[in-house]
Amino acid sequence: MRYAILADIHSNLEAFQAVIEDLSRRGGYQKILCLGDIVGYGPDPHACIELLKSNEHLCVAGNHDLAAVGAIDTRSFNPVAEEAARWTSQHLSEADRLYLGQLPLRAAEGRFTLVHGSPREPVWEYITSAQTAAESLAHFDTPYCLVGHTHVSAIFRCVDEKHSKCFLEDFPIDEGFELPHDRTIMNPGSVGQPRDWDPTASYAILDTEEHTIVRHRTPYDVAHTQEKMRRAGLPGHLIVRLNYGR
Ligand code: ZN
Repeated sequence: MRYAILADIHSNLEAFQAVIEDLSRRGGYQKILCLGDIVGYGPDPHACIELLKSNEHLCVAGNHDLAAVGAIDTRSFNPVAEEAARWTSQHLSEADRLYLGQLPLRAAEGRFTLVHGSPREPVWEYITSAQTAAESLAHFDTPYCLVGHTHVSAIFRCVDEKHSKCFLEDFPIDEGFELPHDRTIMNPGSVGQPRDWDPTASYAILDTEEHTIVRHRTPYDVAHTQEKMRRAGLPGHLIVRLNYGR
């Protein structure tokens, strides 16, 4: 089975569509594994939910998905994120609301656990260090875990589970590799709001027959998304950061 691994789409329809087109050019996919934050920040929450729903997919809830339907408190959001969350909640259909509201906090597909933040704290925790990755191991029981939330790609290879030792490795671009024998936590980076100083959309393709995973980047029409954000009155900081991927 060929899976598209997508995280943090964040209502960015142009980025999401560019990824779908890039996937088709690269031999297609059968199912999307989505790691949460479909909405929030960007100008097209409804269209992004619709596009996701038009695919066979499995998706977990991100903090922004839950905030948009009032399922979590946005007081811990920074003011810009809170403003975007309020805007998002006002631009969802009833069906969008129902869809976001029923997303699970964690899911499993074969040998993969899916969460937004971390398996220990699916909604809020960021796995940015090998230490946090190691502490996560006790909280899922599949060999592999797929996460998003940081908007930065990462591979945490956990070589010595008895001593909970993980190592942070780069998730290479366009270079597929065989899934490690060790338990591994993988983050494909963000489709709709990358934060690694590269404005292009980041995602991965998992092939469970070949036992390989590969990450790709694809450019999209950033200016078009920004124009829609301006018209929607979304915060300027969110508009500008798409230029830099930061
Ligand atoms: Zn996010």
